[in-house]
Amino acid sequence: MIPLSVPSIKGNEWKYVKECLDTEWVSSAGKYVDLFEQKIAEYTGAKHAIATVNGTAALHISLIIAGVETDDEVIVPSLTFIAPINAVKYVNANLVFMDSDKYYNIDSAKTIEFIKNETIFRDGFTYNKKSGKRISAIIPVHILGNAVWLDELVPLCKERNIKIIEDSTESLGTRYTKGDFASKHTGTIGDFGTISFNGNKIITTGGGGMILTDNEKFAKKAKYLTTQAKDDEIRYVHNAVGYNYRMTNVLAAIGVAQLEKLDKYISIKKSNFLKYKEAIEKIDSLTLADVPDYANNNYWMYGLQIDENYPLDRERLMKKLGEYKIQTRPIWYPNHLQKPFAKCESYKIENTLKLVDKTLNIPCSVYISNSEIELVIEKLS
Ligand SMILES: *Cc1c(COP(=O)(O)O)cnc(C)c1O
Repeated sequence: MIPLSVPSIKGNEWKYVKECLDTEWVSSAGKYVDLFEQKIAEYTGAKHAIATVNGTAALHISLIIAGVETDDEVIVPSLTFIAPINAVKYVNANLVFMDSDKYYNIDSAKTIEFIKNETIFRDGFTYNKKSGKRISAIIPVHILGNAVWLDELVPLCKERNIKIIEDSTESLGTRYTKGDFASKHTGTIGDFGTISFNGNKIITTGGGGMILTDNEKFAKKAKYLTTQAKDDEIRYVHNAVGYNYRMTNVLAAIGVAQLEKLDKYISIKKSNFLKYKEAIEKIDSLTLADVPDYANNNYWMYGLQIDENYPLDRERLMKKLGEYKIQTRPIWYPNHLQKPFAKCESYKIENTLKLVDKTLNIPCSVYISNSEIELVIEKLS
């Protein structure tokens, strides 16, 4: 079986976890939680990093601190894993769905067009002309490791007091090389960035997440809200509704060890991507999805694009590869069509549908072997 994506736990994970077990620091306090936060902050260049139980919790807390309230609206891409969409509903806000650009990301130009033409700025806030509701935040999701183009979108959102929560869950390690944010990591440009360390991400803690922010007040509030909002820890005084969204020391220990290998993983993933690309270019009617030329990508996931002239469509190709024990997966179902969200506003969504139909993600584990890559290519040819 060649899986789509599996983690590799072959470094200091064993040593650091053993230390947690030996010292009995297994729960939500201990040196590794602090160390993991500090190392992620150092790596990404964010001023603050706050560990969470998973990436979805990181999104939920960021939305609360961003000031998203009941009945507000949040701008989101239709094409994303569903976590950021669900998180908006956790704060009882509504969704406005946007289309995708050629890199699967929220289409910045169309989003700008929407903000300029379909909203008004009044008393310090942006309101949707159609619904009359306040648009308090936007969640650009850096899909498949690809950085969202933010040069024009970020200044406009700042001007319009729309808080920016970058879901950089899939793009840890991706940094801009061109434009106003050159050298910055994804997740460090908006008001918040969120990361996940789920088992299928580029590095994993089994399950875990992180909030990034440069704002000290936001960082303090994030720590407070994720740890049950303790105002007096000894006498159990709580002045707000808190959450049990902490990461445990054992999982943070795995994270510290994984992070030591991230740059190596990225370079291996890049070289595997190029191997696939070179071979797939020679196959009629198949291409490997391009990565943006304005960023150094982390090459998290490889999207195979199937042209209409290819003998098999996405479903048939997935089935055929499955018969050879090669696991592949379609990209997500468009969220503006999902049952719970079908009544929400969506703005000129076209490209998303085309991308979904023609994309199949192919095996991309860091330690996929050359012979496994060759077998995938042979079965595509
Ligand atoms: C995986 C993922 C998440 C959620 O992370 P969890 O840790 O599984 O809660 C959020 N957003 C995106 C884009 C993801 O791919």
